[in-house]
Amino acid sequence: MKAAVVPYVNGPWEIREIPTPKVGDGQVLIKVHASGLCYTDVHQTRGSAAKFPWVLGHEPVGEIVELGPGVWNRRIGDRVGVPWTQVGCGRCGACMRNEAHLCASSIGTGVDLHGGHAEYLLAYADGTVLLPEGLSYELAAPIFCAGYTVWSAIRMAEPKIGERIAVLGVGGLGHLALQYARAAGFETVAVTKSEDKIPFIHSLGIELVVSDGEELAKAGGADILLCTSNSYEATVDAIRGLRPNGRAMIMGIDHNPLALSWRLIAPQIRVIAVQMGPRAYLYEALQYAACGKVKVMVEEFPLANIGTAYDRVVNGQVRFRAVVRPDIFKNG
Ligand SMILES: [Zn+2]
Ligand SMILES: [Zn+2]
Repeated sequence: MKAAVVPYVNGPWEIREIPTPKVGDGQVLIKVHASGLCYTDVHQTRGSAAKFPWVLGHEPVGEIVELGPGVWNRRIGDRVGVPWTQVGCGRCGACMRNEAHLCASSIGTGVDLHGGHAEYLLAYADGTVLLPEGLSYELAAPIFCAGYTVWSAIRMAEPKIGERIAVLGVGGLGHLALQYARAAGFETVAVTKSEDKIPFIHSLGIELVVSDGEELAKAGGADILLCTSNSYEATVDAIRGLRPNGRAMIMGIDHNPLALSWRLIAPQIRVIAVQMGPRAYLYEALQYAACGKVKVMVEEFPLANIGTAYDRVVNGQVRFRAVVRPDIFKNG
């Protein structure tokens, strides 16, 4: 099969012919129809949580074409996606609480098994999630990391009726966070310095756009701040716009420390790190997409052009999520 292989740390992504994986006990083979690129792919290419040569991609969706021995709850032809965490060890405290995403020995897509930037993907049957009917592959893929993460952040912030949600950063995660917050019925504010994105934000039905934490505070503040920026400097700045008892949900990754001030103590602000919540939140995130209340804006690329897609992700040029189509090798 054809796959996008990262040959070594910081190496250029190369399309190579590699063996199509063979299914083992409890596993399925998926013909990949769409695979989203995430900024985490960039961190992995630069050496975080990755081995080389390796196939990345943790937003894969497609169609099951083969079942391994013992698989009873999936069928050939099922439309599925696979999130970052497939299965846990089944034996630790996290697994015993049905929280395999917090298991230290979990099996991760594009981490412990090859990822989705390839024609076929091997996955554990229990790691697959059925796609809702009517949701296309290319719009489903980014829900498996970006949509799942931002919806988990909203759920974990435990918003109360009447609270206001602000979203820092309008990119792959942020453009979805704005839509989920609004779809769930909360007054939503965008925090961005990118003036060129304001017409798009208004088109989502979101009127209030501010440029930083000070402007957010002047505009009345927010109870929940969904921090999707990869800059902790921008994150700390935006936290200044939180109301008392506010929750800052941190999703971005910056290798600099998050330098918080003692001024958060009097208003009792909570800072909560978010990776992904329980599988139930992924189900909910997919439902919002299936009914059209949340729509991923995607740029699609044939597998042969994944290098271009990667460069656009690195440079922050994608509007707003890049998806490769391994079922289309070349344009046209
Ligand atoms: Zn991701
Ligand atoms: Zn475990």
